[in-house]
Amino acid sequence: MPHKTNNQHAATVAAQALGWVDETTRSVTPPLYPSTTFERNTDLSYHDGRCYTRADNPTYDQACAVLNALEGGADSRLFASGMAAAVCVLQALQPGDHVVAPKVMYWALRAFMQDIGVRSGLTFDFVDNGDADAWAKHMQPGKTKLIWLETPANPDWQITDIAAVAKAAHAIGAIVAVDNTVATPLITRPIEFGADIVMHSATKYLNGHSDVLAGTLTCAKKDAFWAQVCKQHKGGGAVLGVFETWLLLRGMRTLSVRVERASSNAMAIARHFETHAEIEQVQYPGLESHIGHDIAKKQMQGGFGGMLSLRVKGGTERAVAFHNACKLFKRATSLGGVESLIEHRASVEGPTSPVPGDLLRMSVGIEHIDDLIDDIETALNQTK
Ligand SMILES: *Cc1c(COP(=O)(O)O)cnc(C)c1O
Repeated sequence: MPHKTNNQHAATVAAQALGWVDETTRSVTPPLYPSTTFERNTDLSYHDGRCYTRADNPTYDQACAVLNALEGGADSRLFASGMAAAVCVLQALQPGDHVVAPKVMYWALRAFMQDIGVRSGLTFDFVDNGDADAWAKHMQPGKTKLIWLETPANPDWQITDIAAVAKAAHAIGAIVAVDNTVATPLITRPIEFGADIVMHSATKYLNGHSDVLAGTLTCAKKDAFWAQVCKQHKGGGAVLGVFETWLLLRGMRTLSVRVERASSNAMAIARHFETHAEIEQVQYPGLESHIGHDIAKKQMQGGFGGMLSLRVKGGTERAVAFHNACKLFKRATSLGGVESLIEHRASVEGPTSPVPGDLLRMSVGIEHIDDLIDDIETALNQTK
């Protein structure tokens, strides 16, 4: 079944940004309200309930409504970055609470958990993404409050069965939060599989043009935990600027074409190089050979996303030489932009990284597929 909201497909919701037209001018793209403050009425109330932009600004309304519709959620909040959004969820916990998170995940967030998370009194268990039994086994009734998932997970794109984890978590009263940055709501809607909170680094696919840093949280329902998240969003102050919010909404309008093209390009690259003589392994959930493929088929639709990793023959040295020889794939971190990027993750993450030295993470953009395959082929040949 295609994702639908109010009988509209996600592509329509995104393209039309829910069809909102400005009431005063009938402008089809929304106005921007840079004002940080709003005049108070003589009876001490506020004209439309808003008083100060850290708490709320009308520019946020449409972007949040589009996010709610795309994710099938009840409410959303916009943050200054993906990390600010993820950290806000951790901060809504109490000292002593236990968290289960993936061993292999967005590296900076795992590092934050292990350092600042532990210093704030949280305890963590890190488990294998793909090991369905491990998640439930590490949940401690009464102690475990949050299960943090990332699927597909950086940078081996392992898949976690959201429905199975959510069932086990809810049985002990724990909350499930899913980092849905890589799949995007076009491909996976975690709330439909039982997730309580969906997080995005909107810096990536949601904005899609590598020119806005932003994060989002969307909740399945407005419960006490969400109220705490909202309190910290406004109190902590890591909110998104209104200009960035406006750009984010503009970016989200082309989400469906970007994700479709990136997914089909990534699939074609994965297929082309899967059996290539110079390639050790292609890690992509769309391949039958990928360890998480069966769950991916169940949980992802219309494609398997634009992220894949190549493990090249010849170890770390060859991997670095190969990535230096790529021309179209730019040597840069981040993902989800229209341009293709390549990154040697082990050297970025440092000596404690679980990522093998022969692995290159690729964010596949929306260029012509023949040019992308040609770029990889040429770089492989030049570094034999
Ligand atoms: C980039 C990223 C983050 C962090 O988001 P920022 O916007 O860089 O703070 C978190 N999770 C994933 C999967 C990411 O790719």
